Amino acid sequence: MARILRTSLDPRHGPGISRARRPRQWQNPPVTLRLGVLEGDGIGPEIVPAAIAAADAALRRANTAVQWVPLPVGLAAIAAHGSALPPSTVEALQTLDGWVMGPHDNASYPPAHRATLNPSGALRKHFDLYANIRPARTFRNVPATVRAADLVIVRENTEGFYADRNTFAGTGEFMPTADVAITMGVFTRGRIERIAHAAFQLAGRRRRHVTIVHKANVLAATAFFRDICREAGERYPGIALDDVHVDAMAAHLVRRPADFDVIVTENMFGDILSDLAGELTGSLGLAASLNASDRTAMAQAAHGSAPDIAGQGIANPSAMILSTAMLLEWLAARHDDARLADAASRLAAAVDRTLGLEIFPRDLGGAVTTAAFTRAVIAQIFPE
Ligand code: ATP
Repeated sequence: MARILRTSLDPRHGPGISRARRPRQWQNPPVTLRLGVLEGDGIGPEIVPAAIAAADAALRRANTAVQWVPLPVGLAAIAAHGSALPPSTVEALQTLDGWVMGPHDNASYPPAHRATLNPSGALRKHFDLYANIRPARTFRNVPATVRAADLVIVRENTEGFYADRNTFAGTGEFMPTADVAITMGVFTRGRIERIAHAAFQLAGRRRRHVTIVHKANVLAATAFFRDICREAGERYPGIALDDVHVDAMAAHLVRRPADFDVIVTENMFGDILSDLAGELTGSLGLAASLNASDRTAMAQAAHGSAPDIAGQGIANPSAMILSTAMLLEWLAARHDDARLADAASRLAAAVDRTLGLEIFPRDLGGAVTTAAFTRAVIAQIFPE
């Protein structure tokens, strides 16, 4: 039975804000949407509750609310249900408006569970979450390798060179002998068209510039990707369009990231370039992402489960909080809901202000714990 999430970081119970201080109109906001909460592995049980607590504060500040529905995934789900992604979780997600997904640590699963598609890959495939939107921007006062950047990588999420997504049954990767590994890439016109349109529409709300990333000189499939994106671009005459080889793009991101606005690319190129962009702009701990279809969306930080620091209370929850803000923004647009839009922008702005005050977790060179950072974000939402 689903229950409303309550966490120790929940501002209704924790040190973030007391009920007594809250104006009356914030006390019983209407619940409109139901969102899943899948904590996942490694640092997931630390950063996901942090994101929910901060999001709850922003929703309350915007005089609205959502119902959070916790669902099992990952190692905890293997222990309780015998599967890293139990069918009951997938069925429940089908009834919800979207969900917040923590990272998973497949390498720690028992061998039988490692052989299947990992939980987020399975969810992306099952729900056809074809657009992986990964922003990378510099933050005021956060030390970064690059001086300034504000770009978004729009990654095709359902096919390309990630062979585990490419087949109806089994995976497009196999070993016919112990000494030969074969992998398959798949590129289809319809899927390229829809990711291209997602990129052009996003650019229309930003600085009106799309860059297609490919490797057309050696991989014909990516020339196909480039050409279909170009065709789609003809429908957006007001948007500047160029294209770059993926290897050159790695260099451009280091040298001149400020020249890019929206980058559209296939699955594996997008995964690699977004980790690079995330680290260049500060830390993986700041790298947010959203996985969206036309009807639902999953907030998921771009980083992994960070097993090296799990359980220590020192993970940076920023990426998870900013991903949750992206989910609220997506829901606001889908439901034409100004309060949700307000909550989304308050949540993202609170993270920016907290970082601007140089309240830094360890990955940014500070010593602030996950819980203290989250309290600081909530304090920015409800200032004294
Ligand atoms: P995966 O294959 O799941 O991406 P990975 O080990 O390759 O896993 P991450 O789990 O993202 O990659 O970890 C890479 C490095 O970044 C680790 O040193 C980890 O501690 C650090 N890291 C990742 N996310 C965070 C975070 N939110 N806060 C602090 N450090 C982080």
